[in-house]
Amino acid sequence: MVGKMKETTTSLDALIDKAGGWRCRRRRIRPHNSRKHGAAINDTLWSAVCLIKDPGLIKRVHLEYLEAGADILVTSSYQATIPGFLSKGLSIEEGELLLKKSVALAVEARNSFWEAVKVSPEIITITGLWLLPLLEAMGLILLMVPNTVGIMDRMRSDLLAFETIPNKLEAQACVELLEEENIQMPSWICFSSVDGENAPSGESFKECLDMINRSNKINAVGINCAPPHLIESLICKLKELTSKAIIVYPNSGEIWDGKSKRWLPSKCFDDDKFECFATRWRDSGARLIGGCCRTTPSTIQAISTVLKGKPQ
Ligand SMILES: [Zn+2]
Repeated sequence: MVGKMKETTTSLDALIDKAGGWRCRRRRIRPHNSRKHGAAINDTLWSAVCLIKDPGLIKRVHLEYLEAGADILVTSSYQATIPGFLSKGLSIEEGELLLKKSVALAVEARNSFWEAVKVSPEIITITGLWLLPLLEAMGLILLMVPNTVGIMDRMRSDLLAFETIPNKLEAQACVELLEEENIQMPSWICFSSVDGENAPSGESFKECLDMINRSNKINAVGINCAPPHLIESLICKLKELTSKAIIVYPNSGEIWDGKSKRWLPSKCFDDDKFECFATRWRDSGARLIGGCCRTTPSTIQAISTVLKGKPQ
């Protein structure tokens, strides 16, 4: 089991320790998962379009992940931005209401689950998610993000996740935002990686983490939406660069073929192998483990079973 963190205790640390040293994170709702439930998502808002069209679906998917053993829910706000909602003809007020709904739906699912299984309320937390969506200028990032983060803060999300970060600049914007707005929520920053060595921009993780390490607003760092076979060595690399908790939630390893517009099979493994890798990720030092694109509740169930040592 992974040792305790060296940093001062935060609610995130307490959550991890309470679980015995690791958490099982669920992935966010993605088009792939939503299609399984009959929702055709081909929209710039991604799953956030369901906040408008089918909020009940979001709650059902949250419940599926909880039943599979997830401890952390990620709200369906991956591409939910006020500008995004404005581009759909909604008002600022309507956009803010939808963001609040993304948190409320996760809370409703969590409460329903607690009621059904009578588990201790401390076991599960909710992540208010915000991704910096492919923005090129820090000024634009800072213009767009505070409103969303502020809403998540006021909604009392338990965690704030910045994920799929491609470079140091965006990570720096996240850190500065948290400090300037004095956000009290525990937060994590996750980078992606395509080469297993560096951030997608080509910048070294040392460059990125040196900056993050100077902030006590970031409680965990890690990797998301990278292929699973890259994860173990990346955990080892991150452990050398930071004393913060490490989180990993790779994608399924499948590769999106933009020309044929279809997913190509994973070269390395399927869900069965995912659980084998999960134990190695835990043993390498990851304290929060989950899945990103193209993973499913069965992925989370496999991880949860092998890490918790009991069927869900
Ligand atoms: Zn992903």
